[in-house]
Amino acid sequence: MKITSVFQHPTGLYILFFTEMWERFSYYGMRAILVLFLVSESSRAENPGWGWTDSEALALYGWYTMAVYLAAVPGGWLADRWLGQKRAVILGGFLLCAGHLILALETVCTFYTGLALIIAGVGCLKPNISTLVGELYAPKDLRREAGFYLFYIGINIGALLGMVGVAVVGEFYGWQLGFGLAGLGMVLGQAVFVWGQRYLRGVGDSPGRQKDNDFVVSPLTYVEKDRMRVLLLSFLIVIVFWGAYEQAGGLMTLYASEKTDRFVGGWEIPAGAFQGAAALYIILFGLAVAYFWQRWYAAGQESSALFKMAVGVMVMGLGFLFMSAASVQFEHTGSSALWWLLLAYFFHVLGELCISPVALSFITRLAPLRYASFMMGTYFAATGLGNKLAGELGRYAGQVGEFALFTGIAVFCIAFGLLLIALLRPLNRLTHGIEQVDTESAST
Ligand code: GLN
Repeated sequence: MKITSVFQHPTGLYILFFTEMWERFSYYGMRAILVLFLVSESSRAENPGWGWTDSEALALYGWYTMAVYLAAVPGGWLADRWLGQKRAVILGGFLLCAGHLILALETVCTFYTGLALIIAGVGCLKPNISTLVGELYAPKDLRREAGFYLFYIGINIGALLGMVGVAVVGEFYGWQLGFGLAGLGMVLGQAVFVWGQRYLRGVGDSPGRQKDNDFVVSPLTYVEKDRMRVLLLSFLIVIVFWGAYEQAGGLMTLYASEKTDRFVGGWEIPAGAFQGAAALYIILFGLAVAYFWQRWYAAGQESSALFKMAVGVMVMGLGFLFMSAASVQFEHTGSSALWWLLLAYFFHVLGELCISPVALSFITRLAPLRYASFMMGTYFAATGLGNKLAGELGRYAGQVGEFALFTGIAVFCIAFGLLLIALLRPLNRLTHGIEQVDTESAST
């Protein structure tokens, strides 16, 4: 495959970057107003919603956010088995455009149809576009991980713009326009992807089974089995990580809203804005973390994906200690400083940057080609389960108190990370040499 390079990365990476950026704009934008719309009084003269209770709206939110990621498993399977990644992304894009725009009509029937189409659309698009990023690089190309870091920054630019743009339009100009704007973002994403086909020639065209050509006849080889084992184990890390991290949308947002002094110079920062801070941190520090790991590798230090993921869990866990400190301050003074939250989010994001792009890259290196998208889908399903776990954990705070919960999460994550590091050698052996990267291709 001949590819033109821009800043040492294939041009196709930027097509995927902008497609995914707009897809995340629509996803996070719609998500930002979903609960607000549902709980907004139906009798309100301006911008009425459906008048649901908080708990009804949060329940739908919990199921919906889990379903979009679980749908990545059949979405990945569809690409591996029949469509190939590119066609699956295009199908997902159409479903998403239709889903977001139908949802904006706001009748009961169109709302649920819209949600169902979005779930199917994310399921088709998200795992397959991530697998496509990996396909741009040769098996041992060192640039692969850096490519995923760039891609991840695109995700968060889209998330931030969506959370701010759709929230402002939805809340001030009407929910319908907000949902419509999310849909418009997806239309742009789809246009970028369709236009950019010329830069994606030779990647993701045929189903994975044709590439390995023994999909049905021969079972996994012994090396592939080991690699699948280590991948599944890394998904356990992913569940632990997101189970803790995703307190962000629940408990930490409630903590920001109810127990934090959010006034700066007489202006009150909205509680929901702290999640935007996390996306902003990723945009600001994504490349720095990628650079750090490159230097670390160049210095001959342990650079396996599992090591970085273990470090990520621990760093994120450390962030919860700031929340413990915030709860101590609240106990003593009746309010806690917003710096604790900002510091906690900073460590959470550093942890996320050690896990998320690294895991995406790891999967594309490790999974047998005929299961590439299916494994990617399973990874997203693991993140979906982590999200659900986070909701359950957050509810538990009502019983044990916030200090105990935050500290417990921190201790668990740090201990879990240390255990992984202790087991690193046997685990890395299961990858059968995949961690030896080809430094030559890195300099081309
Ligand atoms: N925030 C990232 C995204 O939207 C990670 C989501 C996930 O892995 N569940 O892609």
